[in-house]
Amino acid sequence: MAKVLIIGAGGVGNVVTHKCAQVPEIFSDIYLASRTLEKCNRIASHIRRPIETAQVDADDVPQLIALIKKLNPHLLINVALPYQDLHMMEACLETGTDYLDTANYEPPHEARFCYQWQWDYHERFKEKGLMALLGSGFDPGVTNVFTAWAAQQHLDEIRELDIIDCNAGDHGKPFATNFNPEINIREVMAKGRYYEHGKWIETNPLSTSKSFTFPENVDEHRIYLMYHEELESLVKHFPNIQRAQFWMTFSDRYLKHLKVLENVGLTRIDAVDYKGRKIVPLQFLKALLPDPASLGALTKGRTCIGCLIKGLKGDQEKQVYIYNICDHETCYQEVQSQAVSYMTGVPAMIGAMLMLTGKWRGKGVFNMEQFDPRPFMEKLNEHGLPWKERIFHASQSEVGADRRFDSPKNHDPKSGS
Ligand code: NDP
Repeated sequence: MAKVLIIGAGGVGNVVTHKCAQVPEIFSDIYLASRTLEKCNRIASHIRRPIETAQVDADDVPQLIALIKKLNPHLLINVALPYQDLHMMEACLETGTDYLDTANYEPPHEARFCYQWQWDYHERFKEKGLMALLGSGFDPGVTNVFTAWAAQQHLDEIRELDIIDCNAGDHGKPFATNFNPEINIREVMAKGRYYEHGKWIETNPLSTSKSFTFPENVDEHRIYLMYHEELESLVKHFPNIQRAQFWMTFSDRYLKHLKVLENVGLTRIDAVDYKGRKIVPLQFLKALLPDPASLGALTKGRTCIGCLIKGLKGDQEKQVYIYNICDHETCYQEVQSQAVSYMTGVPAMIGAMLMLTGKWRGKGVFNMEQFDPRPFMEKLNEHGLPWKERIFHASQSEVGADRRFDSPKNHDPKSGS
């Protein structure tokens, strides 16, 4: 029985609150706070259990501390924006509260994300006997756990890792993002970056792509090389990895709009002068774009996110593909959300559950792959994100066009491991 404080009442906040409410034996008291109280109240009104709501500006550490002291939660779940990560970690240290988030810290004025800012908190959390779990969403999050699972169950050594994220859904809008538009556009427009033989290699944004055929009729899509934060922690914790890459699908329509917005300067993150006022064009654009939380009722189709992992078992090369397929409309029926928020909110709840039940415990700051993946993999199946895995021979190993997942062994998690 634990009290949990969720901060952030957007698309992901809605899902975490619903999912925590589904497990009253662990989450006995749920508080939801955000910058706009009305958004918290709207989410609470759709949930049968009582959810206490509050207004808070998470950029203001004293305000956070006062709220935490008043509510006295065991754990703070941060599903606001990456800009607030360090403020919330400070407030947790001050109040003796465990911490969990789904995205690593980004400074507002620089489109750059990196774990070091949060890893630097390790000693302070450790000294206080507190735990911070970083990146408990899908990617990062489940993708880290899939990698740890492959390392634990299938391979002696991971050599190559490809994380491949496909959203084959359609919301029918000319241009919208599936999570916070500001964070999404900053991420997509950043330089690509991948790891090879101990070095990071940069590529121009979205300049490297190939075709990939996804399983279960999710079909063939173009995948684009990007930098994603879990690469940084995974190559640290699995030092045998020789190459690690992250890929994502985008529709031509999305890319065309993004290019035009970039060309006219609307994706800039530096402040410009407008009639004597300073405005940040990307923040202004965010105000014009659809709220991701509003896309739930409109989005149809499926996502498929997984890890294609190549390595050695004994002296044999072996390849494992572990993935989840999620249907937008099914998510909407359950929690009034599209799949991208659902796929972030469910792992946040599971990470919280494992921390609160002591199954994942440690003093300091941790990434997901540092813990035993088994309880997490089990809970994914129970709470709406079932996964599958397929094992390949080395001869079938290239990621690229015409790749089909006809594997010699198709493991269905429901039939046990
Ligand atoms: P939204 O923009 O929908 O929601 C963010 C919420 O945080 C809003 O309710 C917003 O309030 C609130 N907020 C912003 N600033 C503050 C502040 N200073 N104080 C208090 N509340 C604040 O974003 P999403 O729900 O789509 O995303 C939430 C997080 O999840 C992001 O960090 C995102 O990067 C992460 N994410 C992680 C993924 C993963 O797989 N790991 C995938 C997708 C998202 P207001 O409405 O008033 O602006």
